[in-house]
Amino acid sequence: MSDMLTIVEPATERPLRTIPRAGVAEVDEAVARAKAAWPAWRDLAPGARAALLREVAEALGSRHEELAVLEARNAGKPITSARGEIGMVVETFRYYAGAPERNLGETIPAAGGVALTFREPLGVVGLVTPWNFPLAIAAWKLAPALAAGNTVVLKPAELTPLTALRFAEIAAEAGLPEGVVNVVVGPGRICGQRLVEHPDVRKIAFTGSTEVGSSIAASAAATIKRVTLELGGKSANVVFADADVAAAARAAPWAVFDNAGQDCCARARILVQDGAVDEFLAVLEDEVRGMRVGDPLDESTQMGPLISAGQRESVASFLADDVSVAIRGPAPAGPGYWFAPTILHPVDPGSRAATEEIFGPIACVIPFRDEADAIRLANDTIYGLSGSVWTRDGAKALRVARAIEAGNLAINSNSSVRVSTPFGGFKQSGYGRELGPHALEHYTELKTIYIRTQES
Ligand code: NAP
Ligand code: MG
Repeated sequence: MSDMLTIVEPATERPLRTIPRAGVAEVDEAVARAKAAWPAWRDLAPGARAALLREVAEALGSRHEELAVLEARNAGKPITSARGEIGMVVETFRYYAGAPERNLGETIPAAGGVALTFREPLGVVGLVTPWNFPLAIAAWKLAPALAAGNTVVLKPAELTPLTALRFAEIAAEAGLPEGVVNVVVGPGRICGQRLVEHPDVRKIAFTGSTEVGSSIAASAAATIKRVTLELGGKSANVVFADADVAAAARAAPWAVFDNAGQDCCARARILVQDGAVDEFLAVLEDEVRGMRVGDPLDESTQMGPLISAGQRESVASFLADDVSVAIRGPAPAGPGYWFAPTILHPVDPGSRAATEEIFGPIACVIPFRDEADAIRLANDTIYGLSGSVWTRDGAKALRVARAIEAGNLAINSNSSVRVSTPFGGFKQSGYGRELGPHALEHYTELKTIYIRTQES
């Protein structure tokens, strides 16, 4: 394997930058730096750690446009989406800057005395992240891990490492001490695997495919390493006939074609109640045909290319079978990994397109009879990440949202992720939660100290 890595721009297929590629030795050096930096970072006064995280947030905020353009070019996402993601990165650091001074414990009455609990940092934490929301997903891990007093080694996806590398420079300029954040760019099966096996790494926070997540959990077992996993999805968008069907249909494409469908929360199974299917498809068709697919740096672009030739091949394989394409949106010709937004209908609910995660702009419209049928179909998957319920009946909305086995549901909305609320999966979509107050639990160990107060 070459020790240089060429980063490609998915919209042009042209090289964007060539950087050194790390191997096991570089991972070991990064872990050693993180381990050496840990005691001082852990022992920093909570207010001082908070102030440094606020400095990082401000420094990122002042480079907002630079980071957004870099992300848009490297990941092939629309500049307007990239700006939103970098905005979320800044917000995530601001949010967790509040955590060091609120790392509360408990006092619990115990026989003969009292017990106290403390949330202690773990030590060196390994972060392994995917290419679809590169810096945003890294920030969901970096900010709570650092706030809790850990040091980190981040391994971004080889396809999209540029914003992570820039982040490390910005964080250092903002005053984060040497060794607290380390970024290693190299192949997952070498550098990621080494992090998972390294005896000095106490935890792995991973976002990516269910297949790799499963192998990480298995490898981590050897050192009883803590693991949190944010994995794939095949989420359902459930539209009842008593909903504002037109509003649901106008919103539906963005719940699956955002980021060209390369979104773990993509509502790729659109379940529509009998009686509403024709109206739904008519509005959906206008919306999908009118999508603006093209140059990520054009302000009006709504969807960019796929990340790579390999991804396009994998997505295209779902159209190879005997599927019925009901709606096809636009896509540019020429260089770039373009793929037109595509709606399949009718679809056999047991088919590959309806059951496997496509991770590209293909969605299935599947009719259902009644509430029980909708819940059965929505839950007929190995995954459980997100989902939506559209209806004007409030009690039914809550009942169905509660019945769907997934971590993040929205009612009359397709929203999935907020900095202030927990995010994560049920079933094979993973375990652990990111964001919100809950993420901190996954970057700390709970310690109990008993104090005897009774005189004997
Ligand atoms: P992936 O192949 O699982 O890779 C994710 C990360 O793991 C990359 O940094 C990759 O490195 C690394 N990796 C690969 N093999 C590894 C190994 N054996 N040990 C340790 N690390 C390893 O996923 P992807 O192709 O980047 O992303 C697409 C998938 O991620 C989809 O299935 C999607 O659903 C899922 N995803 C889930 C969420 C969520 O929050 N639940 C968010 C985004 C994406 P290299 O690629 O550099 O080799
Ligand atoms: Mg992969």
